[in-house]
Amino acid sequence: MQLYKNQHLRITNSLSGKKEVFKPLSEGHVGMYVCGPTVYSNVHLGNCRTFMSFDMIFRYLRHLGYKVRYVRNITDAGHLEDDAEDGEDKIAKKARLEQLEPMEVVQRYTLDFHNILDKFNFLPPSIEPTATGHIIEQIEIIKEILEKGYAYETNGSVYFDVKKFNETHQYGKLSGRKLEDMIANTRELNAQNEKKSPQDFALWKKAEVQHIMRWPSPWGDGFPGWHLECTAMSTKYLGETFDIHGGGMDLKFPHHECEIAQAEACYDHPPVNYWLHANMLTMNGKKMAKSTGNNILPGEIFTGENMILSKAFSPSVVRFFMMQAHYTSILDLSNDALVASEKGYNRLMEAFEILKFLGTGSKTDFDVVAWKQKCYDAMNDDFNTPILIAHLFDAVRRINLIRDGHETITAEDKNLLQKTMGDFVFEVLGIEQKTSVEDAHTLAGVMKLLIDLRNEARSNKDFATSDKIRDELHTLGIQLKDGNEGTTYSVA
Ligand code: AMP
Ligand code: ZN
Repeated sequence: MQLYKNQHLRITNSLSGKKEVFKPLSEGHVGMYVCGPTVYSNVHLGNCRTFMSFDMIFRYLRHLGYKVRYVRNITDAGHLEDDAEDGEDKIAKKARLEQLEPMEVVQRYTLDFHNILDKFNFLPPSIEPTATGHIIEQIEIIKEILEKGYAYETNGSVYFDVKKFNETHQYGKLSGRKLEDMIANTRELNAQNEKKSPQDFALWKKAEVQHIMRWPSPWGDGFPGWHLECTAMSTKYLGETFDIHGGGMDLKFPHHECEIAQAEACYDHPPVNYWLHANMLTMNGKKMAKSTGNNILPGEIFTGENMILSKAFSPSVVRFFMMQAHYTSILDLSNDALVASEKGYNRLMEAFEILKFLGTGSKTDFDVVAWKQKCYDAMNDDFNTPILIAHLFDAVRRINLIRDGHETITAEDKNLLQKTMGDFVFEVLGIEQKTSVEDAHTLAGVMKLLIDLRNEARSNKDFATSDKIRDELHTLGIQLKDGNEGTTYSVA
């Protein structure tokens, strides 16, 4: 039997602001769409946090036995500078500055994105569509919205008529804003502006002569508005109404609000049953962002090459650090926080090793079945990974007590503990055990230290110490070789 039949998941729906029982449209199946990256520069760790939150959610849904179709797009056109209506396209700007084809920019940063996500052990989404691959679908939606009377064309561009939409629908329901307040808080448009009202947003923008990313349309050459791609791709692959739509908290308004408006205007019903928003990663208390420079790249963390870091941290430690916070809470990155996470991660991994070789007895001193259900209860309560991790550390404490002979465990319970811990740590949280690459990295560091100490001893004519280092390494199967280029080592 599928786990979801017994484990009742509740998730915070940003639309209602409440925790709701999760009931997919079609039993056993989940359709989930998450807004992907705009591929005009390297992903920073903040971007990774949002995608990691949804990777964990994807993993848990799968673990519960749901068949999940997870769509995460690539924004390769239409996202303008400062999310403004009249800014330059972010990708076109980068292409101009670096004298590249826009698709070279897209290719470069899509590869970077995949490479980083691989290092963090992400599962690939089921479909990863691109905005430029869905221009026809976007044009069809615009035609439909125009026909329904919720959009207007001006000078080769098409805008969504927010006031008209709000007469029969509720613009602002996701972000809790009222159109009247928005109007009261914005300045009047100047006479040259093509929009009827400042809240209106572009569905299609006319491409000026210098604009390189352009496609033909019934309204002339142009490019789609940013919000439209997600409506086109989510409905194409998941249907006009689907289960979960996710993204970072900062996308709630205007991006997701506009997605709701477009879909309701086009299809006459709400597109999404559960809206999920992941909270921000901050650094020095401020949102990590590309535009402000307050960010850190994952590669800098893996090598330790950043001023705020005292050392390198592995992708698994960073992932563990992220999972220690609830996905709806703000999380602040610092060297101290990473050091603490590394300690926790090492304790957890050590416990796995101890567990493998733990002797068994005729009784168990704690209720493993009840502990297992507590782990599920934590995840069923809106994917509460910090509580889950607290339960995992309860298990670590028990494992150490059993190893030290203070408690015992039966063979059956040991198997259950091992299986459950493995399921949650590796399958659900997506954390990896130390890899041989990391071990090799550590060995190289230790060997460099020992070779330096031996050289120091030799130059001080302290041959007792230098020989001791060489001989003891020899008994461990490590040979030192002195050559013209210095001392090297080989492992037997
Ligand atoms: P972008 O490539 O700018 O479209 O952003 C990709 C994703 O990263 C979006 O879902 C954003 O909400 C998310 N994001 C951007 N900055 C942060 C941050 N500091 N913390 C968490 N998520 C972020
Ligand atoms: Zn989107």
